[in-house]
Amino acid sequence: MARHIYVHNPFCARKCPYCDFYSITDSSLCEGFYRAAEKEVRLLRSAAGTDAGTNPGTDRYGRDTVYFGGGTPSLPNSRYVASLLRTIREVFDLSPDSEMTIEANPSSLAPDKLSDYREAGFNRISLGVQSLDDEVLKTLGRLHDSQGAIDALFMIREAGFTNVSADLITGVPGQTVDGIKKDLQRFYELGVKHISTYSLSLEEGTQFYDRYRNSLEDLVPPDTEREMYYETRRYLQSLGFEVYEISNSCLPGYKSIHNSSYWDSCEYFAIGAGAHGYLGDMRYGHRDDVRAYTDEMKLLSTQDYKEFLEGKRTDFKSLYVEEMLTEEDKMKEVPFLRLRTSEGIRLDEFKRRFGVEFEDVFSQAVESNIAKGLLERGKRTLRLTRSGRDLANQVMEDFL
Ligand code: SF4
Repeated sequence: MARHIYVHNPFCARKCPYCDFYSITDSSLCEGFYRAAEKEVRLLRSAAGTDAGTNPGTDRYGRDTVYFGGGTPSLPNSRYVASLLRTIREVFDLSPDSEMTIEANPSSLAPDKLSDYREAGFNRISLGVQSLDDEVLKTLGRLHDSQGAIDALFMIREAGFTNVSADLITGVPGQTVDGIKKDLQRFYELGVKHISTYSLSLEEGTQFYDRYRNSLEDLVPPDTEREMYYETRRYLQSLGFEVYEISNSCLPGYKSIHNSSYWDSCEYFAIGAGAHGYLGDMRYGHRDDVRAYTDEMKLLSTQDYKEFLEGKRTDFKSLYVEEMLTEEDKMKEVPFLRLRTSEGIRLDEFKRRFGVEFEDVFSQAVESNIAKGLLERGKRTLRLTRSGRDLANQVMEDFL
C-alpha cells in the first residue's frame, strides 16, 4: 500500500513579489534545517508506526511518492537534499518504482546538482519556468530569463530525466494569449511532459498586493484572464495533453501521482517548516518558522512525536494540529478535492469509503447545481461543466 511524503524546503534566493508561500532567504539556516529534517523522518517513522499513511482503500496508483516542494529545493547544497531523500527511502523502505519529485528553479540548477538528485533517486523534476517571455519574467521579478529556462530544460534532459513538469503563470500584466501559446509550444518541443498553469492572484502580504491593490485596472481584466485559461486548455489539448485537473495537464502516462493522492484524499506525511500533512483524522502542520523547527526537532523524542500524533499533546513550538476531521468533514472534503479534477467525484468510491450514497448525503447541492448547469453526471461520476469551472469555488461552497 502506497505512502506519500511531502518535504517543504523553505529557502529561496530572493522573495518573488507575488509569492505568499513560506520561504526565507537566510541560507545560514540551511544545514541545520536539513539535519533537523533527517531527524524528523526517523522520529515520524518510529512514532507513527509502520501502518500509518498506507492509504488503505483510497490510493489507486499503488505507488509511493516523495515530493520536495518549497521554496526552492534546488537552491541548497544538493548533498543535503540527496541525503534527506536517501534517509526517507531507507527509513520508509520505499519501493524502487516510487515517484520522487523535486521542484527546481532555472537560476539554481547545475549539472552536478542534477547528478546528485539522480543518484539519490529523484526521477521527476518540476521546473518553475513561469514564462518564456523576458518581459513577463521581469514583471514577475524572477531571477532567470527565458534563455536560462531553456538551458535548464536541456540540462535536465542531459542529466537523464524524462519525467519533467514545467510551471506557467497566466494573467500577468503585459502577457498575451499568443505569448502563452508560444510558451506551451516551446515546452512541448523541449520535451516537457506535464504542465501546471496558475493564474496570477493578488495575495495579501506580497509586494504585488501593495503595488496593485489601488490600481486593479493595471491587472489583466477577469474576462481576458478567463480567455487565457480556456485558450491554454484548448491549446494544450491540441498538443495531445490531457487537462486532468483545473491547473494540471500532461501527456499520456505523466500524471503527477503525488498531487493526485491529495485529490484522492490519501494520507500523507509532512517534513519541514511550513509543511502540512494528513494522518488518520488529523490535518496537521509545521509553523512557518525555520528556527523553531530546527530547535524543536533537536529536542523531540519519539514519545513526544507519538503523543502529538495521537492528539495527546499540543505544547509544541513547530508542530500543530490544524483540524481534527469528523466523518462528516471527510465527506465534505470529497467534492472540494475531486471537483478540481476532470474526472470529478467517483460515486462508487464514495459509497465504498463511507457506506452511503454521495447523492443521498448532498442531494440538495447536487440537484441545484445540475439544474443551474454547473454540474453534470458522467458514468458513476459527477463533474463540473464548463460554466461550473468558471464558478468552481461557488459550486464547492454549496457542499460545505
Ligand atoms: S522562487 Fe517560488 S517559492 Fe520562492 S519566492 Fe519565488 S515563487 Fe515563491
